[in-house]
Amino acid sequence: MNLLPLQKPLELLQLEVLIKRYRKRDQYYEQIQDYYHRELAGYLGEKALQYYFALLRYEPVFTLFDLRAKAFTHYFQIDALLITRQFLLIVESKHTKGVITENDAKQMIQHVDGKTKSLQHPLHQADIQRRQLKTFLMNHQLDQLPIYTCATFTHPEVIIDMPNQPNNLFTHHYLLQFIYDLLEENHTPIISSKQAQTIGQCLVANHTPRNRHLAKDWNIKENDLILGPFCSRCSKVVMKREHGTWFCQACQHYDKHAHTDALRDLLIFHQYPEFSNQDVKGWLSLDSSHVCKRLLANYDRIGEKRLSKYNLSKLVPELEHQFRRIKS
Ligand SMILES: [Zn+2]
Repeated sequence: MNLLPLQKPLELLQLEVLIKRYRKRDQYYEQIQDYYHRELAGYLGEKALQYYFALLRYEPVFTLFDLRAKAFTHYFQIDALLITRQFLLIVESKHTKGVITENDAKQMIQHVDGKTKSLQHPLHQADIQRRQLKTFLMNHQLDQLPIYTCATFTHPEVIIDMPNQPNNLFTHHYLLQFIYDLLEENHTPIISSKQAQTIGQCLVANHTPRNRHLAKDWNIKENDLILGPFCSRCSKVVMKREHGTWFCQACQHYDKHAHTDALRDLLIFHQYPEFSNQDVKGWLSLDSSHVCKRLLANYDRIGEKRLSKYNLSKLVPELEHQFRRIKS
């Protein structure tokens, strides 16, 4: 049972908006691109794990993705956690390509496109997570089970070239076999299914996703962005409002609903769900408040007349709880 399903992190959603709309080509543009590729790789890695976990034929197993919780003063973040009646398994994923080696100093090295760079060793990372998870579970009197770790490389173009490759580090194809082997070695249940679920539920209750506001941190304002709905067919340019619909001058495409994605971007960019007619008019590059009002007719309206705002949170329902927290 998946207790904490994988979803696109808010930071990745923000980066997607910035990648698409940031118009300047300054130092932030490079930061945005680097950060975006890193976050996307993390997300794709976890997605690959989700695929393998779904193939697991064993009951009961509780899974949690991208868990972030606090042990004492520090947060720990686990790509994927598997809870059985016999053990817990932390899975650290790395979505990097190229040839992966390890030097004598136990540093992990990535060789790709003629370049060499050091990587954070996923087993060392997983071990730190294990200690923190142990502390967390002890604090909640839920520390009956042993905690195992493994690291899996999820990129299709990766080659692990390590003479002393640890048996808990492998490419993703081996993940299921690794879990089945662990289940075979640890076949006697230590706790009940209900207790295993309680561990998962306690972690979910303490899950605190990151909510960095990237635009604020980098001082990026709306006027640094390309505003308006992007063409839903060619994605190259923003569409113009014409005769009650949106029109793309590049590919001649019409789309009545092109503003919906743009409104989603507005919400993600500001990390705030309520906007006035004026706010939305500016964001969609509309000339008319009446047209804007019509486009917002499907959203809840709060407040009276000129002070009224529209709540757009249903556009990103999976993040509603995060928006609320930021607001308060
Ligand atoms: Zn187009």
